[in-house]
Amino acid sequence: MYTQHKKLSFEFFPTRTEEGRAKQVITRKQLSQFNPTFFSCTSGAGGTTRAGTLQTVQDILNEGIAAAPHLPCIGLLPEEIIELLNEYKTMGVRHLVALRGDIPSGSGMGFDAQGLHYANELVELVKTEFGDTFHIEVAAYPEYHPQARSATDDLNNFVRKVKAGADSAITQYFFNADAYFRFVDDVQGYGVDIPIVPGIMPIDSFSKLMRFSDMCGAEIPRWLRLKLQSYADDTASIKALALDVVTEMCERLLREGAPSLHFYTLNQAGLVSTICQRLGY
Ligand code: FAD
Repeated sequence: MYTQHKKLSFEFFPTRTEEGRAKQVITRKQLSQFNPTFFSCTSGAGGTTRAGTLQTVQDILNEGIAAAPHLPCIGLLPEEIIELLNEYKTMGVRHLVALRGDIPSGSGMGFDAQGLHYANELVELVKTEFGDTFHIEVAAYPEYHPQARSATDDLNNFVRKVKAGADSAITQYFFNADAYFRFVDDVQGYGVDIPIVPGIMPIDSFSKLMRFSDMCGAEIPRWLRLKLQSYADDTASIKALALDVVTEMCERLLREGAPSLHFYTLNQAGLVSTICQRLGY
């Protein structure tokens, strides 16, 4: 069965309180039963969650699991990035998610002429300064990045990151498996052969999903949007439908060639665990 050899990874965001941190330890313990390749932790652009991300990464390492910090380069100078990477290296981190990041609105932060502007430049910097110390993941957008000038331009920019030295990629979430398979075919046409791992979003709230999707450019198919909307505040029905839709999509992704799955857990184990169990993990 395909789930026996296809691994999983899970993403968290740093918590702000000790209570949140303690809850996250329990969530990770529940998800560690699925024998993940790594747990990743997001990071705010410009180092805005630096302490929280470092703490979460240390917690994960203390639990004996590989940790992959996300590293958005926007708003940081190259020397600040190198300093942070040295800290990660000393902690024992060997896996990174290298990103451009988004400038937080109202932060006053802008493009710094001396800073890095795109993720391919970050991958280049990591390779130049640290060689093969880190396994580098980059982001991929099967439905294209919201700021992309065109689909072709975005594909070329993705290929640029791979040529700079990315080892694998994690996609933005999507609910249309065809977009993923088309993207993989397209980049293979450019000679890209790194694993491109689907990022999976479990749906637990219609309003949250709409908010996220507006920001990141992920399309919610009309039939799914209308159906979820029709459930209004009936969270049980929303979760039941979401579980079916997301599990069926994951089954197809694995069956038709996705190398593994990466779950956006939103710091919750419940829905993700159910999906993994239904998939046979
Ligand atoms: P890039 O690959 O640099 O692309 C950004 C845009 O610029 C695209 O439109 C691309 O076509 C264009 N472009 C790329 N290179 C060039 C170039 N050389 N010249 C001209 N145009 C170019 N954000 C966070 O802040 N923190 C996180 O922890 C985080 N984690 C994420 C994890 C995953 C798996 C994903 C998919 C996204 C994550 N994000 C995170 C969001 C991400 O930072 C945003 O989507 C951001 O807008 C783009 O980052 P990127 O690394 O994909 O950028």
